[in-house]
Amino acid sequence: MSSSFGYAILPQDMERDLLAACRNRLPNETCGILFGRHSEHRVAAERFTVIRNASRHPTESFSFAPGDWTKAFYEAQNNQRTIVGYFHSHPGGSPLPSAKDTAGWLPWGTYWIVGLTGQDSQIAVHRHDPVHGWCPLKLVSSEELQK
Ligand SMILES: [Zn+2]
Repeated sequence: MSSSFGYAILPQDMERDLLAACRNRLPNETCGILFGRHSEHRVAAERFTVIRNASRHPTESFSFAPGDWTKAFYEAQNNQRTIVGYFHSHPGGSPLPSAKDTAGWLPWGTYWIVGLTGQDSQIAVHRHDPVHGWCPLKLVSSEELQK
């Protein structure tokens, strides 16, 4: 693992809200999109929107409800928000991309996974590169950066 893949920045209050949004929907997977700013080696999340999980097996996979997804996309455009990635949760699982994630990855942005196990939760951020596969980004809180 190399830090050259870059940083993902998440404000602490947003992390708390994101974890709560994922926990509230257990045992189902939660999914959605993240807005913020990004440059080549840095992505800063500033807000998120949950997209309804339309998967027929929502406890083990996710799929964006098309209506919600379209609405979120146009809202982002109208508010001049940049979509920087998307997230989903792994109920009772690790925050690392699964084989299913690899099969279904979208070729843009960053991929945030919330792993929920008992009381614990972990967030991992990756981007997918056709050459290197999943590239981990170092997750830091915006509060940490200000130190
Ligand atoms: Zn997954």
